Amino acid sequence: MNNTNVNPENVVCKYCQSPHLVVVPAYNEVHHSKLVCKSCGKLQRWLPKPSTVESAKRTLETISLLKRKTLPPKEQAFIESLSDWIRFKRPTPKQTAWLERIAAREGVTV
Ligand SMILES: [Zn+2]
Repeated sequence: MNNTNVNPENVVCKYCQSPHLVVVPAYNEVHHSKLVCKSCGKLQRWLPKPSTVESAKRTLETISLLKRKTLPPKEQAFIESLSDWIRFKRPTPKQTAWLERIAAREGVTV
């Protein structure tokens, strides 16, 4: 996010309906930045790192491609459970490593 003075989604403040929302860097590990109301100063929501959004998209694509393959039952169960998991949480390094191993063997690249 280069421009910190934009209203990225054309939304208004949840609290005061002001259209003057700004993206402010968050300086923490989890979030990239936050969307804050310039008028009342209240936090609207946290914004993820662009790289996090990208990698989540790739994981989803990899999973959907692997779901079309015939995999050993253990791996198939893993793909199924991971597909539920990532709706709420980021995959763990262990899950990512396993997913990448299966994807590489199956010739799935995204
Ligand atoms: Zn406001």
